[in-house]
Amino acid sequence: MNVSQLAKSIAESPTLKLNEEARLLKEKGEAVIHLGGGEPKNKAPISAILSAAAKLNTGDIKYTPTDGIPSLKKAIIKYTEENYDRVVAPENVIVSSGAKQSVYNLLYSLINPQDEVIILAPYWVSYPEMVKMVYGVPVIVTPEDGGFYPRMEDILKAVSSYTRAIIVNSPNNPSGVMYSDEFIGELVEYCEKKGIYIIMDDIYHKLVFDGKKAPSAYAHTAKDIESTCVIVVNGVSKLYGMTGFRIGWTIANRKLVEIMTNVQSQITSCTAILLQAAAEGALTGLQSAVESLRLTLENNRNVMVQELKAFTGVKTTKPDGTYYCLPDFSAYLKDSVALCELLLKKALVVTVPGKEFGMEGHLRLSYAGSIKDITEGVNRIRWALDPTSAKEIYIGERKLVRDWL
Ligand code: PMP
Repeated sequence: MNVSQLAKSIAESPTLKLNEEARLLKEKGEAVIHLGGGEPKNKAPISAILSAAAKLNTGDIKYTPTDGIPSLKKAIIKYTEENYDRVVAPENVIVSSGAKQSVYNLLYSLINPQDEVIILAPYWVSYPEMVKMVYGVPVIVTPEDGGFYPRMEDILKAVSSYTRAIIVNSPNNPSGVMYSDEFIGELVEYCEKKGIYIIMDDIYHKLVFDGKKAPSAYAHTAKDIESTCVIVVNGVSKLYGMTGFRIGWTIANRKLVEIMTNVQSQITSCTAILLQAAAEGALTGLQSAVESLRLTLENNRNVMVQELKAFTGVKTTKPDGTYYCLPDFSAYLKDSVALCELLLKKALVVTVPGKEFGMEGHLRLSYAGSIKDITEGVNRIRWALDPTSAKEIYIGERKLVRDWL
């Protein structure tokens, strides 16, 4: 079949593919443990459900303004003021179908063919593909020490006259680490000077542990919202565990929001009104749901790190936030895709290969599930890889004996 060169060059989302594989195995009755997922087990906040239900009950379900209903935008403005200490206007806000569409719309609106976008490894899998989808060039900056913290000197080396934007995701998917306030400050100062857009994907910014607080890029610029290069993306998916509601947003200057609105009007017209109503309900309702999710994740993170400690040869950087950690398994197998396949086949555990995030030799493990999944999942991985662990294991009803080490 003849499809476009561009479409052909775009990789499938590995995380969504793994979700599907796990779902099919579960459907067959296999005792799969999913440590690959990017969503928690919580129910949506009641305020979100009631708000969507109230809207549904009116029966008046129509198109909305392309950039979002005014009441949701108002809630986003309040969120921005409370969390970033920035007062923005409705014209600085555009609501999209998830932060994923926000990032894509941004890139579509900013990038000319051959423009370069700097992406910091390890990175969220979708960034490089999205840059390619708008005919831009992803420029990956990888920390030389094999760690997860980008260095300013490496970023400076990657900047060229084609550099149009840099994407920053901190706390970071997949590593869970949070970049320092000094680093964000230096980066913002540099980007403002050079006129490079700095896209802050802040989707995990409130899911931070150990009493820490995610730095705000706005805090490091004296420029107003109309002239700053700082752009902020956020959404309800991770904050409230409302992944299925598909609501994200962008805060940027008016001109850019206007262009993004034109783009969006030709693609999706608007996001669904019921889902916007739900997001508004979540943002304006009791915020205890966020703190409760954050505490659960922090506890799960502690269990995951503790379990991995017992694993000889595996090096784990303690995450500061998010749903994930990215332990180094290269002592067992350097090829993370092969390792991920082996773990699914032998131990029925879903993990995501670090290679997809620009970090070969690592596996992304999610602690967004239950404590039982975390402990049993890591135990199964140990059984499959570590010759010093017990030879026998129960997976579901079946007793398995390791015969490959
Ligand atoms: N950015 C990052 C870093 C993410 O991890 C995700 C979801 N996995 C998104 C954006 C997209 O979120 P949404 O569900 O709002 O599209």
